[in-house]
Amino acid sequence: MIREGRAAVLNEAGKDAEIIDITLDPPGPGEVLVKLHSSGVCHTDLTVKNLGGNGMQFPIVLGHEGAGTIEEVGEGVSHLKPGDPVVIAYRAPCEQCPACRRGDPRHCYMALRPKPRIHRKSDGALCSQVLRCGTFATHTVVHSKAAIKMPAEMPLDKACLIACGVVTGVGAAMNTSPVFPGARVAVIGCGGVGLSVIQGAKLMHASRIIAVDVNPTKLQWAKDFGATDVVNAREVDPVQRVRELTDDGWDGGVEFAYEATGIPVCTEQAVKMLSYGGTATTIGFPAADDAVNLNLGDMATGVYWNKAALHVCHCGDALPSHDFPLLAQLYLEGKLELDRMITQEIELGDVEAAFHKMEEGNVIRSVIRF
Ligand SMILES: [Zn+2]
Ligand SMILES: [Zn+2]
Repeated sequence: MIREGRAAVLNEAGKDAEIIDITLDPPGPGEVLVKLHSSGVCHTDLTVKNLGGNGMQFPIVLGHEGAGTIEEVGEGVSHLKPGDPVVIAYRAPCEQCPACRRGDPRHCYMALRPKPRIHRKSDGALCSQVLRCGTFATHTVVHSKAAIKMPAEMPLDKACLIACGVVTGVGAAMNTSPVFPGARVAVIGCGGVGLSVIQGAKLMHASRIIAVDVNPTKLQWAKDFGATDVVNAREVDPVQRVRELTDDGWDGGVEFAYEATGIPVCTEQAVKMLSYGGTATTIGFPAADDAVNLNLGDMATGVYWNKAALHVCHCGDALPSHDFPLLAQLYLEGKLELDRMITQEIELGDVEAAFHKMEEGNVIRSVIRF
């Protein structure tokens, strides 16, 4: 059966998202059709718009942080049935790349994708879906292994946040560079991802969690989400301040520093605030020509003498089938804060307004309710 729906779509480069009618083909083998309940508005959707589609073919259905219920399953899908609540994962392991073949799906090179099934109703043009999801839509078709079943008691307007911002931040502290109990941690950038790193560090029993930002509102959020100290990088040198706060007679520094801004100098700062043998992790998206300059030989903070490591976090190195239900469970047990991550609930037609608010920097997450 062909279904009809509505979606926020980029029709061409340089234009705002438009709310248009769509039609959806039935899900193919191994695919599912999801009726969206909620979708978070993540910075990556804005980036796709600002970069003129970022290489994707127009028209593009935006959105990749969605939760909903299964409406129809394709041939061969036995682990899901209509009515099941799911969160959509944009990085379900491909099961074919070298990492998957050696049994390391957290480091999968790519991700499972559905065949294009969504059409612009006006002319039938096939739509691309941001990160294989396309959740700014009343309905979407995704790979069945990318639809992760949620516990029945998990509210879907909170569950959608798990899909990107939360799993990326918490996963950085749990999977990419796992914090050990008692470790000292710094987090640079306190938006949705940075706040989730703070939550992850707390879940891993860090002894200190030092939040760094230039926005006092975000530093207050950081405190609310578990930071033990905050540093306003507009007022003081964050590297020096973190070393002072952690002074232990051994030059201070943190065992783990996470950069969640996408600003190259913040990755340099993360490396420079490490204690001996510490690990910095860069999370934010760089632009194609972004570069960092890391000193090797300085006796105090040089990468060589300080034995510093630099990790890269992609989506929290998540294994969605394992991590999404775990994060839902932590929420239901009151150990993971999601309610306060939702700054505002909006309708599909408010997507552009939500983008503007995001650019102003005073929103953790806007969540579209369908
Ligand atoms: Zn995202
Ligand atoms: Zn793979």
